[in-house]
Amino acid sequence: KAVNAKLRAHYPESQELFKVILIDDNRSDELNNAIREHKIAAAVMKTPGEMAEVSESELRIAFDGDAVLFSNESERVYASEGLEAFYRNEREKVNDPMKEGPFKGFLQVLVKLQRKLHDKKLLDKKCPIRTYLVTSRGGGSPGFRALNTLRYWGLEIDEALFLAGAPKGPMLEKIRPHIFFDDQMFHVEGAAEMGTVACHVPYGIAQRVPKKGIKDKEISSAPK
Ligand SMILES: [Mg+2]
Repeated sequence: KAVNAKLRAHYPESQELFKVILIDDNRSDELNNAIREHKIAAAVMKTPGEMAEVSESELRIAFDGDAVLFSNESERVYASEGLEAFYRNEREKVNDPMKEGPFKGFLQVLVKLQRKLHDKKLLDKKCPIRTYLVTSRGGGSPGFRALNTLRYWGLEIDEALFLAGAPKGPMLEKIRPHIFFDDQMFHVEGAAEMGTVACHVPYGIAQRVPKKGIKDKEISSAPK
């Protein structure tokens, strides 16, 4: 509502408004097919028992990186060749943009709306849309590659948080996004436990690699 009120106020002639479509159906086979075949941004929403209070005047949207904004190409390297190979891959390809993931298009639309509002001098805190990258990638090459990819696409993100394996829930509790997207169920659950509306993106290798048996130490620095 806050975003649309600003858009209507500054662009009364435009029909370009923020819309959300909720489908009361979580048959994941169909979702998976839709994502794979049509590259649509779809996710299964998990609502927390107790929801954290969120801003009424600013829409905050948080995204995971790998297999959400970005493709799962780096994750595949980690899954098949291990952590060292992952780091080597990110070092060697730090300036090669990753391919797009299922939610790149959604970020693109948000950035487009932000730019329209920026054009009307609604900058920084005055802009009613704020975007966040919340990734388990750490600093160094893995982090730079994520930023370089966004730069290559010409998409600014308001805040990029490189958690280097730290749990996402507490950080999201501070950000208080209206919605968070991640392909790894344990991040979705961790976020929901801390009061964030979190959505599971059924895309990428995380849907096939069993998490059990992977040591915490390894998970802590892997791309998620
Ligand atoms: Mg991920």
